Amino acid sequence: MARTGLVVFNQEYPDYYMCKSCRTHIALAEDFISIDADTELIGATFDKAVNLRVDGPVHHREVAGKTVVDIYCVNCDDKLGWRYIHVNGEEIALEDDNVRLRMKKLVRKYSNQILDAETMSPVREDP
Ligand SMILES: [Zn+2]
Repeated sequence: MARTGLVVFNQEYPDYYMCKSCRTHIALAEDFISIDADTELIGATFDKAVNLRVDGPVHHREVAGKTVVDIYCVNCDDKLGWRYIHVNGEEIALEDDNVRLRMKKLVRKYSNQILDAETMSPVREDP
């Protein structure tokens, strides 16, 4: 059930990612950058994403030389991934506002199908 005030993608040819738990729209497939698997941070990096709650500065933490903070679905509060606060010189291609999302926490809306974001196999919707 969608809460009012959420960003809703309305593409002619739908291709975007949603929260697996509540189907809130999270990121467009066209904003997908890469799958990354450095230490402890396995996920998909997106240029931007919507409908996320970001923890405050007190929750910033260092992982693999980067300062990150956890991000949550704004609708159901499931932890979906993290956002980069600061990235050292090793990964200069990453912008500070990139987010990295755990694919196992997402499903992909692709045309009229819903796919598991990790395996790309169809997900059966509840009636
Ligand atoms: Zn959610």
